[in-house]
Amino acid sequence: MGGLFGIVSKEDCVNNLFHGTDYHFHLGTMRGGLATYKEDGPTHVIHDISNSQFRSKLEPDLKNLRKSRSGIGVISDIDSQPLTIESHLGKYAIATVGVIKNIDKLKKEAFRRRSAHFTDLEEGGISQTEMAATLINQEGSFEEGIAYAQEAIKGSCSMLLLTEKGIYAARDKLGRTPLTIGKKENAYAAASESCAFINNGYDSIERFLGPGEIILLDAEGVEQKKKPNKDMQVCSFLWVYYGFPASEYENINTEEVRYSCGNALAKSDEKDIKTGKLKIDMIAGIPDSGTAHGIGYSHETGIPFKRPFTKYTPTWPRSFMPQDQKIRNLVANMKLIPIKSMVKDKSILFCEDSIVRGTQLGETIKMLKKYGANEIHMRPACPPLVYGCDFLNFSRSKKINELAGIRAMMELEGLDKRKDVPAEIVRQYSDENSEKYHQMVDWIRDDLSLDSLKYQKLDDLVKAIGLPKEKLCTHCWDGSSYF
Ligand code: SF4
Repeated sequence: MGGLFGIVSKEDCVNNLFHGTDYHFHLGTMRGGLATYKEDGPTHVIHDISNSQFRSKLEPDLKNLRKSRSGIGVISDIDSQPLTIESHLGKYAIATVGVIKNIDKLKKEAFRRRSAHFTDLEEGGISQTEMAATLINQEGSFEEGIAYAQEAIKGSCSMLLLTEKGIYAARDKLGRTPLTIGKKENAYAAASESCAFINNGYDSIERFLGPGEIILLDAEGVEQKKKPNKDMQVCSFLWVYYGFPASEYENINTEEVRYSCGNALAKSDEKDIKTGKLKIDMIAGIPDSGTAHGIGYSHETGIPFKRPFTKYTPTWPRSFMPQDQKIRNLVANMKLIPIKSMVKDKSILFCEDSIVRGTQLGETIKMLKKYGANEIHMRPACPPLVYGCDFLNFSRSKKINELAGIRAMMELEGLDKRKDVPAEIVRQYSDENSEKYHQMVDWIRDDLSLDSLKYQKLDDLVKAIGLPKEKLCTHCWDGSSYF
């Protein structure tokens, strides 16, 4: 994923830029960077944030960026950015989020024109942000260049360009990642996460950019350079899992959607709770995002919400930083500390944002059973993940054959684990009304040693978000999206 933040102000804005970018730290694991514009063009700093906080790495550099009235910042999961570019359009800095799936094809086309070269990255490949800049530089103006890049790129690529005139903010063609514009006296800002505005004094939201929309921000206001497209495929997972609770996308708050997801999960259990088939002493959430789903479930049923384990965050800030999955699991397990007296002899229903591989969750369940939990029931807030993400650099579904749903299909069908599951089989198992779907869910339940497992229905998830289905990307669950 990744997150963007940019400001144009009538005053020095470097502190605001730093804090606003810092509010995107949960969206990326690799690089953090800032660029500001001074008389002679943009200047930038970039740091590796894979093992340290953006705040501690970037703070010492602020003095070099000071006294600037415009700037952009990025938390990146892929390449080092922002990049500073000198081109026939002028000097500018650029930062992007998303993933360019057709980057090899675009590279070959650029070489055919004999008009481009790219820097080799240490980790292999070329920079996506450099590719976006190369596409933009093909045209005669920034707005034409950005529009050209939006059409050429398959995948997604929202971007901020820091120029002499102000900041160009452009959302990817199908609006998979959000961009929101905030306003305060003397300044405008653009952010992936609207929660970045609140404590930085941006009291009002000027607008939520539409898919493919391009605007130019300066300290006086917002000028639309390209209207939004009709089609949208905003990522549903923003609301389910990785978006920040205090943020709004498409004017819909994340925390409230999570409560609605919990409500829907509770409604689907209503009959079993009434008849006593499902007896629960407490509702809990797998931290962090499972907590809000759990609160929603508790509100609907009246069963108390409790925290039978707590998360130790001061020294374990997040679990997905290490590249090695085993170390990530170890970190995740070290963070969760059970409260034995609350677990013993209790029947606990957990809400979870989603079940990905299930390995980490399996360890948590083992730990709860070891401390005497009577029954553990799991209610993920979204359907089983069975498709990979082709549109974002989304870390949750990178290795498709490791997904719990896919492992279930392989076992149940006796398939060769070195090969991909045929598309027709995935389609059959993802159909919530099919016998195969229920076999898959039962397999995952047994694999995780759960007493019951019931996933959110896709319709209920869509209703909880509140946008029409055709405006949402739900590809992870039904394979329905497109470039
Ligand atoms: S495939 Fe999943 S993670 Fe990727 S954009 Fe669609 S909903 Fe989001």
